[in-house]
Amino acid sequence: MTDSPASGDARTEQLRGRLDAVRQRIGRAAAAAGRGENPPRLIVVSKFHPADDVRRLAALGVKDFGENRDQEASAKAGELEALDLTWHFVGQLQSKKSKTVVRYASAVHSVDRSQLVAALERAMAGQQELTGRADLDCFIQVSLEEDAGAHRGGAAPEEVPQLAEQLEAADGLRLAGVMAVAPLGADPDRAFEKLLGISTGLQRDFPGATGISAGMSQDLEAAVRFGATHLRIGSDILGSRPAVR
Ligand SMILES: *Cc1c(COP(=O)(O)O)cnc(C)c1O
Repeated sequence: MTDSPASGDARTEQLRGRLDAVRQRIGRAAAAAGRGENPPRLIVVSKFHPADDVRRLAALGVKDFGENRDQEASAKAGELEALDLTWHFVGQLQSKKSKTVVRYASAVHSVDRSQLVAALERAMAGQQELTGRADLDCFIQVSLEEDAGAHRGGAAPEEVPQLAEQLEAADGLRLAGVMAVAPLGADPDRAFEKLLGISTGLQRDFPGATGISAGMSQDLEAAVRFGATHLRIGSDILGSRPAVR
């Protein structure tokens, strides 16, 4: 345990400045896309950064945080339980971690295979019986790689309908939409245009699956142009983190 960081400390001021800059970028991008009334939701990805930074950002009005490793996320969410934050799991998820993830996460953005849907459904059955918690929002992570071998995680686009049906039928899980990471070195506009097409196809069969989780520090403008509803921003707010992850 650490004491609550003093408001107005140097780190808080740094975070305030960076958060403002990102919010301005989002506002400009949304206005340019004619979405000023319907801007995307900002998720601050806090991986590798301490719980005190999350505390500082919460004091600056951030409610949504993203994490990509269960152990780290679980510890932070536990330490910050009193703040009533919304945790989004955004990393590759092993099925066996489902049980702990559903203890703190409101959403999983990285659902990419049938076995994981089944594991999350089982985990949610237990968790809902225990706590009566709300259904888990599930985004289907889609791989946008041209070369299917070069996966950075995610289902192939042709696997999306089947995963969507499975999620729709699962108790305790809500099909929220799609998620993707733009391939390294690729044109993000092309990648997010493709994701928007996949989302449009999905929404024909599942009108409630309106979520598009896309856009990171480097490419949030492109994501907003192509309909992102959730942005996952880490380094432009919190600073750099170790390169290996
Ligand atoms: C780390 C991470 C982010 C945030 O990336 P930044 O480039 O730091 O903004 C977004 N999405 C996922 C899946 C991540 O792992």
